[in-house]
Amino acid sequence: MTAGWLGLAAAAAAAGASARWNWWRPRLPGIPVLMYHRVGTPPAASRLKKLWVAPADFKLQLQRLLALGYEPVAAERLGEPDSLPPKPAVVTFDDGTADNLEAAFPILTSLGVKATIFLVAGWMGRRNGWEDPADEPWQRTLSWDEARAMQAGGLVSFGSHTMTHPDLRALDEEALAWELSESKRRIESELGRRTGAFAYPYGAGAYDARVRSAVRAAGYLCDFGVKQGLAPDGWRPEAGPLKRLLVRRDDWMLDFELNISRGKARL
Ligand SMILES: [Zn+2]
Repeated sequence: MTAGWLGLAAAAAAAGASARWNWWRPRLPGIPVLMYHRVGTPPAASRLKKLWVAPADFKLQLQRLLALGYEPVAAERLGEPDSLPPKPAVVTFDDGTADNLEAAFPILTSLGVKATIFLVAGWMGRRNGWEDPADEPWQRTLSWDEARAMQAGGLVSFGSHTMTHPDLRALDEEALAWELSESKRRIESELGRRTGAFAYPYGAGAYDARVRSAVRAAGYLCDFGVKQGLAPDGWRPEAGPLKRLLVRRDDWMLDFELNISRGKARL
C-alpha cells in the first residue's frame, strides 16, 4: 500500500526531526543571550569552523529577533535587572576579533541592534595569540582605535574577557586578580567608560567559587559562562553565572528559534 508506506516514511521523518530538534519541549521564560565569536567565512585550516557564522545568517537571526519583539540591550544591563525593557535580548561576541568590525558591525548598524564584545585586553591590535594556530589560523584582533570607533556609533559596548585568555582556574590569587582587574582598568581607561560585564575564557571557572568571587571582587556587575540556556528574569549574582546560547555556523533558523524560546535546540 503506497499510502501506508508514505505514512511510515512520514512517521520516520517526524521521529528523526524530533531527535534532532527540541520542538517538543515547552517554551521557557528567560532572556536569550546569544553567544557569537566570529562572523564571516572560516579559514580553510580552521578546526573551529562552527564558530564562524555566515554574515547572511547573522543578519537573518537579528532580523528574526527584532520581528519577535525582542529589544537587544548591552550585556551589563543584566546586572541591573530592574532597568530592563519588557522583552530584552543580548547579543554578545567573545574575543574581539577584527571580523566583528568588518562583517558584524555593518549589520548591527544597519538594523540598529545593540551588542557587547568581550575583549582580551592584552591582545588588542595584534592577534588571537592565545589560540593554537594548528586549530585556528590567527586572526587580527580589534585595535583600541577600532573599539573606540565602534563605541562611538552608540550600539556596541565592551566587556572583559581577561588580559590573556587563560584558564582562570589554573592561576594563583595574584595572577587571577591581575587578569580580572587589569583588563577592566585597561578597557575603562582606553574607552573612557565604565565596564561591568565579564565573560570567562572557555567558560572556565564560571562554576568555581574561588574564581567567581574574584570576579565579583574585581567589580563586575554580571558574569557570563558558556553553559547553554536562557538567562533568568530578574537575575541576581547568587543565581550563578549567566547562561548563553551558542550560535553555530551550521544552525538552521529552527535551531535559532528553539534556542531563544526553549534554551536549547538539540538534545
Ligand atoms: Zn574566548
